[in-house]
Amino acid sequence: MPEAFDIVVVGSGPASAFFLHAWLARAPATARVLWLEKGELRTHAWRMQGEEDALLDASTRSVDNPQKRSKPWKYAHAVGGTSLLWWACTPRFLPADFELRRRFGVGRDWPVGYDELEPHYAEVEALMAVAGDHEDTPFRRSTPYPQPPHRYTEPERLLKAAWPEHFFHQPCARPTRAVDGPNSKRPACCANGVCGRCPIDSKFTVLNGLRTLFEDPRVELRTGCAVQSIETKGGQASGVVYREKGREQRVEASLVALGANALFNPHILLRSGLDRGPVGRGLHEQASVRVFVELDGVDNFQGSTSIGGHGYMHYLGADRSARAACLIETWNVPHLRFEKGRPDKLRQLMAAQMIYEDLPREDNRVVFNRADPERPKVIWHGRSEYARETIAAHAAADAERAFGALPVDRIRLDKDGEIRDTEGHILGTTRMGDDPEDSVVDRNLLHHQVRNLVVLGGSVFPTSGPANPTLTLSALSRWAAAKL
Ligand SMILES: Cc1cc2nc3c(=O)[nH]c(=O)nc-3n(C[C@H](O)[C@H](O)[C@H](O)COP(=O)(O)OP(=O)(O)OC[C@H]3O[C@@H](n4cnc5c(N)ncnc54)[C@H](O)[C@@H]3O)c2cc1C
Ligand code: SF4
Repeated sequence: MPEAFDIVVVGSGPASAFFLHAWLARAPATARVLWLEKGELRTHAWRMQGEEDALLDASTRSVDNPQKRSKPWKYAHAVGGTSLLWWACTPRFLPADFELRRRFGVGRDWPVGYDELEPHYAEVEALMAVAGDHEDTPFRRSTPYPQPPHRYTEPERLLKAAWPEHFFHQPCARPTRAVDGPNSKRPACCANGVCGRCPIDSKFTVLNGLRTLFEDPRVELRTGCAVQSIETKGGQASGVVYREKGREQRVEASLVALGANALFNPHILLRSGLDRGPVGRGLHEQASVRVFVELDGVDNFQGSTSIGGHGYMHYLGADRSARAACLIETWNVPHLRFEKGRPDKLRQLMAAQMIYEDLPREDNRVVFNRADPERPKVIWHGRSEYARETIAAHAAADAERAFGALPVDRIRLDKDGEIRDTEGHILGTTRMGDDPEDSVVDRNLLHHQVRNLVVLGGSVFPTSGPANPTLTLSALSRWAAAKL
């Protein structure tokens, strides 16, 4: 007889972890949870031995991506998923991001809005110990940020003075104060600027920030277990098939939560024969351009975290019927300026990232890979015209307008404004919506046909705005758990 569980959760990144955390809070003491993760447990000590690249390499080998040079997709196969590699920037989406079609006639509307997600944003921020300024923020909030904001650098302070309504502290899960609670013990962030690794284990990861999940006697975590398919009986999910050490295993489940990220979620659905609707279509991620601001007489690097500021000059109030919105990050990672005979210029440089929204294209997609069923095949034709044309037409002027308020020698787009190959954000392949022919899951993240299957993560985003996605996808996970 196969083992039977109340719930099987697939994947252990933020999408699954925040869902499971919320689900357990309402589950009985007798609940049985099986948590299946394809990767292994990679401790902070392991990651400090220079193995971060190995984590990435292993992942990029796990998809069939013919464009891997020009368009890599970055993620980790390990307990905690890509939270081990992320930089912990945690902006919320703006209300307009959920209503692109209604407001601007482009993209799609989400079937859920900002106000419905707001309490869940606050729950995730509390668990991540997000540092931010709740008195000066573009977001309508019901609670204060759990931690005070990081200190601005001098150029950021000047930007705030020039753009009081459009420049803010970046909210981030890199805490300003030590965190000491049942879920997490983490030191305060100290601006090392190598956050993919975070030598002092300060930034939030699923491993250091949701510890109760790993201590809960109801939860059994099995690593090195790659889910192959979801089994259905009579239109309901009845269990999953996974591969462990080369052997196939089968377990029964009353509920299945699929949080394997936007490359693997659609692939697992397609392998399971759950191919109705646009499964796999709409793969996208934001497009960014790096800017270097050569300052005139202003030193940089007095801040207390890696990325300290957020510019909304081309986001708040942008006419997105005509152009893509852009979110600007100001960086405090020491890019130094070397000019012969001018040692005074060494610190007079600020790097920034201008992140533009992309619109999903139906022809960018993940398909079932018959030749190698373990590895999803990615078909990628490039970013939308909307993103590309905005960057070609506006990036230089956007940078001039935003940073021209500073005393500058020069503002230059890195590589002449070339779009960076990846943001590490993988989105859109099992989108949510009300119409089962045009979406894969409903507003509660339940699969349209298999009503005891929840699909989690950035794959459900119908559009994505220019903001980093993880806070929003984690809030959606808690929303889904609350709606069950
Ligand atoms: C370098 C980098 C920096 C980033 N910085 C930021 C940032 O600052 N802010 C932000 O918002 N986002 C950032 N991101 C993106 C962020 O990491 C992701 O949005 C987030 O981790 C997605 O969560 P997830 O749980 O959906 O997927 P993941 O974190 O990718 O987790 C999916 C998990 O599922 C597992 N899995 C896959 N297939 C199977 C299977 N068949 N069976 C079992 N398990 C499976 C994987 O091994 C993995 O552990 C960054 C990403 C990268 C790469
Ligand atoms: S700035 Fe340093 S301490 Fe802070 S999160 Fe990044 S690496 Fe960790």
